[in-house]
Amino acid sequence: MYGALCSRCGDSLDAPVQAGPSSSGLCRACRMAPPPFVRAVAYGPYQDRMKAAIHALKYERLHAVARGLGGMLAVAIAKLAAEAPSEMLVVPVPLHRSKYAERGFNQARSLAFHALKALKKSHPEWRLTLASSALMRLRATESQFGLTSRQRRLNVRGAFTVSDPAAVTLKHVLIIDDILTTGATVRAAALALAQAGAASVWVATLARAGRVRDYRRAVSARFDDAEVNSGSAGTSPVATLQGASIYSSHEQSSF
Ligand SMILES: [Zn+2]
Repeated sequence: MYGALCSRCGDSLDAPVQAGPSSSGLCRACRMAPPPFVRAVAYGPYQDRMKAAIHALKYERLHAVARGLGGMLAVAIAKLAAEAPSEMLVVPVPLHRSKYAERGFNQARSLAFHALKALKKSHPEWRLTLASSALMRLRATESQFGLTSRQRRLNVRGAFTVSDPAAVTLKHVLIIDDILTTGATVRAAALALAQAGAASVWVATLARAGRVRDYRRAVSARFDDAEVNSGSAGTSPVATLQGASIYSSHEQSSF
């Protein structure tokens, strides 16, 4: 289902790609408003087993899966090896403290921790330092599922601040999150880091979800939201997998 990808944010490009200015290799969002990060990479699409594993970590707190997912995140980060600086601060997207209190851990931090461990072996020349408290989330934001791109941007605007600007000034920063959808969250986080003086900002996520482009997808995204909410109330992994397959069949049928 994933054909050509945007060279900047990794979103799937609308097919077919026409000749002319639109064949720049950039998606419409990146052409209209270049993001405040150099490049975003992901391990793979947010579907099926990946989706079930992320749900197991976030909502069923199966920490055992964090190591495996961290290894996949390491593979995503390694896609940056040819371009990104060899010395970077690794900043997981923070949760608001109310969400942190509810969940008890930040899945992005946990994934970053395990990814760095894997990269120490596979890429010993890379000097990546985990800086979990570099970024703070000022506002508890609504779930991004089912919102349009514009709603998502407004939802996270000004949601992040850098706790100690001196710690990121002139540093190269790699932002880590579990899922990237429209990129509104990582754009807001990257903007806060760039404004604090970061030399460059890069992004790596475990999974890339498609943007909600039409009504059909909006419906499946809302369905997904309901599934996420019920997930914390003890949805079985089987139900989660069924949800995932329904979601992906919606996606496939819209192409
Ligand atoms: Zn893009």
